[in-house]
Amino acid sequence: MGLKIWIDNKLVDEADAKISILDHGLLYGDGVFEGIRVYNGRIFELEAHVKRLYESAKVIRLKVSMDKNELIRAVETTTEANGVIDGYIRLVVTRGTGTLGLDPFICENGRLIIIADNIQLYPEELYEKGVKVISATTVRNHPLSIPSQVKSLNYLNNILAKIEALDNDVSEAIMYNHEGYVAEATADNVFIVKNGVIYTPPVEAGALEGITRGIVIKLAREENLEVVEKNLTRFDLYVCDEFFLTGTAAEVIGIIDIDNRIIGEGKPGPVTILLREKFYKYAHGEKF
Ligand code: PMP
Repeated sequence: MGLKIWIDNKLVDEADAKISILDHGLLYGDGVFEGIRVYNGRIFELEAHVKRLYESAKVIRLKVSMDKNELIRAVETTTEANGVIDGYIRLVVTRGTGTLGLDPFICENGRLIIIADNIQLYPEELYEKGVKVISATTVRNHPLSIPSQVKSLNYLNNILAKIEALDNDVSEAIMYNHEGYVAEATADNVFIVKNGVIYTPPVEAGALEGITRGIVIKLAREENLEVVEKNLTRFDLYVCDEFFLTGTAAEVIGIIDIDNRIIGEGKPGPVTILLREKFYKYAHGEKF
């Protein structure tokens, strides 16, 4: 039996979940999305994700067909209907059916799609050993072209960087902005540790304002660790003591090598391990 998919205002069978081939979400990547985790049957940070979705939609002048509370209820309904206890939810809002021209304002029936499914996680071994990354040559979109805070359906900038990573047999690439400062990874935010202080690039450097990023900053400060948002260079990454990425799918994952420069002792460091554990407990609703 397939999934139950929410489209617009109701659940339908996966086989009946269809959208027009003239939807500008398909033709132009004109739309926005969110990825959300479910832990122990709880939808993690649902309100924050919904808020970000509406902000992304507002910036690209896209109207979402329901209000925030209705959307929250629809996400809950879809998650329950699919019996998802630990999984992943994808929210997609498209511009709707238009013509082959660009004009977004003649598009009709902008679609609202909710998919709740299981999640394929990175193997546990990768978290223990850490992963290698490279610096992408693909420059992060200029903020005056597409603001990085908008989680749009057009991910080609990130996909080109991801291709560079895969061509180099590593799983992730670090993207730099037009000024040469670190922006983010292809679907994760960047953190380093140097002399006991945690640094992360400001969102204005070209990052999505990650929800995991915000939680990890909060958890680190609760541990009395200093967290500084500051522009970082490739040099800073090469000589840091610890390096990790954060994101909804990856959670907190240690980086042990960038461009063949080994980070620290070549394994995830103590701050990375501490924050990964704290994040795990927080996400699973455990007291600590
Ligand atoms: N940057 C990009 C480009 C992303 O797509 C994501 C989401 N996967 C992130 C950062 C991390 O954000 P979040 O913690 O909200 O998942």
